[in-house]
Amino acid sequence: MTDEQKKAAVRVYVTCVPHPVVDNDDFWDNVRMGLLGLVPFRCAELADASEEQLKEFAKEAADLIAHKADAFEHQRKGQKPTGVLAALATAIALGARQEGGITHLGVHACLEPHEGCPRESNGA
Ligand SMILES: [Zn+2]
Repeated sequence: MTDEQKKAAVRVYVTCVPHPVVDNDDFWDNVRMGLLGLVPFRCAELADASEEQLKEFAKEAADLIAHKADAFEHQRKGQKPTGVLAALATAIALGARQEGGITHLGVHACLEPHEGCPRESNGA
């Protein structure tokens, strides 16, 4: 990897934060673990997207979550993938782009240092 490639790399901070439901529910804790892995990749994928594309990704993610969240949360044997986990990763990746990042479902994600970031208390 060249120095130029290293400078162009998308830096994402993603970490677990306490959440009263997620901390006490195996399903949502697994979702959080999945998001910890997916969000940095989704942030990188969205890094060069236009504002129009970002709005479209946000709309698609919101529609998918709204229509399939119940099937995602209450999975049955043989159920086809709902795409909700990927949509949640997109939503959090979009939120990470905002000043102060995003904290949702026991996950905090941000692209830039900011006041109150869990990164500060973790010494990162
Ligand atoms: Zn942060």
